[in-house]
Amino acid sequence: MERFEVNILGCGSAVSTTRHYLSSQVVNLREKLFMIDCGEGTQLRFRAMKLKFQRLNHIFISHLHGDHCFGLPGLISTLSMLGRTADLHIYAQADAEKIFRPVLDYFCKELSYKVIFHIYNPKKNELIFEDRTLKVSTIPLNHRTPCAGFLFEEMPKSPHIIREMIDFYQVPVSRINAIKNGADFVTPDGTVIANRIFTRPAEPPHRYAYCLDTAYYEKIIPIIEGVDLLYHEATFSHADIVRAKETYHSSARQAAQIAKAAHVKKLVIAHFSARITDESILLNEAREVFPDTILANEGLVVEVSG
Ligand SMILES: [Zn+2]
Ligand SMILES: [Zn+2]
Repeated sequence: MERFEVNILGCGSAVSTTRHYLSSQVVNLREKLFMIDCGEGTQLRFRAMKLKFQRLNHIFISHLHGDHCFGLPGLISTLSMLGRTADLHIYAQADAEKIFRPVLDYFCKELSYKVIFHIYNPKKNELIFEDRTLKVSTIPLNHRTPCAGFLFEEMPKSPHIIREMIDFYQVPVSRINAIKNGADFVTPDGTVIANRIFTRPAEPPHRYAYCLDTAYYEKIIPIIEGVDLLYHEATFSHADIVRAKETYHSSARQAAQIAKAAHVKKLVIAHFSARITDESILLNEAREVFPDTILANEGLVVEVSG
């Protein structure tokens, strides 16, 4: 199976602590790395997880709270000192460029590569990135400041070729690509052999949703319906629901309610309040509603398809 996994770099909220770094993670899809959020400390965690800087070309920023983006200037500066030449693409809301461009212009005057900002509208569910293997779209969330999660979807894969049938009908190598793309095969005597004789359907494309920071927000349910993996914030336990509401965050129980209502396959809860010292309370609370839940942690790698 091809690699599609989430590397968790940081999963704390608001302030760095000795227990948790701030929000950042790296999605690895077939050895291409896509960073989501870049809290302070991200570049250290990136190195600690032995990820490769040269495979990182795209960074998605959910919103402009410091715990999700203060790591950007440091990371950008380090990449230049390492001699990077490839463009770096940052997907964020309009203010991000206004804020970070002057910082980069001041501190990184001789940047060895280009930083390109791509502006998205956090109020819309829209496609913001696409290549041959992946598409990424935004998930509007409900937070104190405009905020969007991200839906990562693999592109549909080509069907598998059944080698024995290719051999049996003596299909020339030059026809195999066409068969992968759905063509039938015509034998030299003019008989048409249906495509399905030569192919087995590929596994359905896998999908991953990243949803933080947000209050409990049912509008995301149709967008994330049935994803293989949901990463949802659970800043507080439900005992702190008043504070969760005031700060536009979710409780662990609410994260699980979203996971259940959206029929996701697996839930990771994250963005823990620095005041929580025993996260098993959050885990138990979530599992009562949605048993297939795990806690995020620095260094944890979660398979999207596994
Ligand atoms: Zn946050
Ligand atoms: Zn926030």
